[in-house]
Amino acid sequence: MALKDKRIITVAVTGAWPTRKDNSNLPVTPQEIADDVYSCWQAGAAVAHIHVREDDGTPSMRFERYQETVALIRAKKDCDICLNITSSGGTLGSGTTEEDDETRIRPIRELRPELCSFDCGTMNWQYRTIFENHPRFLERLGRTVQEVQVKPELEIFDIGMLYAAEHYMGRGILKAPCHFQFILGAPGGVAATVEDLLTLKQRLPPGSTWAASGIGKGHVPIMLATIALGGHLRVGMEDNVFYHRGIPAASNAQLVERAVRLLGEAGLQAASPDEARRILGIGRR
Ligand code: ZN
Repeated sequence: MALKDKRIITVAVTGAWPTRKDNSNLPVTPQEIADDVYSCWQAGAAVAHIHVREDDGTPSMRFERYQETVALIRAKKDCDICLNITSSGGTLGSGTTEEDDETRIRPIRELRPELCSFDCGTMNWQYRTIFENHPRFLERLGRTVQEVQVKPELEIFDIGMLYAAEHYMGRGILKAPCHFQFILGAPGGVAATVEDLLTLKQRLPPGSTWAASGIGKGHVPIMLATIALGGHLRVGMEDNVFYHRGIPAASNAQLVERAVRLLGEAGLQAASPDEARRILGIGRR
């Protein structure tokens, strides 16, 4: 099958917010995350988006937790999944000093995943706290990823963030062609509707690649619309802990398997990690 008919499945296995109360199958420790990522890779995921936690489930940005998690994934036999490390992690609503900037950037600079998240603005997160991405932080992150050759994945929670991405592209802080991840349905951001997805897709800078994910009940509708519109997919418990309404997902791999099946029904295939690297224009680690 031609590369144009391959779609990247990213799996966001843990995130910063869900807890074992939301879904008892959520992977939390470095070993659990690594084992989960491995089974998602076997199921067809090409990219793993990584957050880490402390053993009690608390969101963490501790470097050693990233180091251990990445090492465990990279040690898995034959597993060539692309890694995407968050640059937000456990910092939502906590800490916006230059020291915090360094804490957020260090895992990316030192562990050199293929990708990292780059959140193009600040928002009120679920009406509870502030997801702060200071201009100083974004400029530093943008320059660092160019130095260490990590591709930023531009997370877009609202349409203003798309214009902010163009601003940073214009100043050379982000280098085109960029890869965008639309995340729809986060309270405080754009809604998980097909209309809003289409608006975002139509505003993309020419030559960009893109993916989308709907949070919670918008998950499957946004996945179907994204397939129809030519985008790549993101699944996983960071965005959605349910398989169907009221039925918790049995595992992240179960969510990957569903995405693989839906691609198949559309005459498409899940991209392998190396195909994902070609689509995104990135080298192998
Ligand atoms: Zn994330």
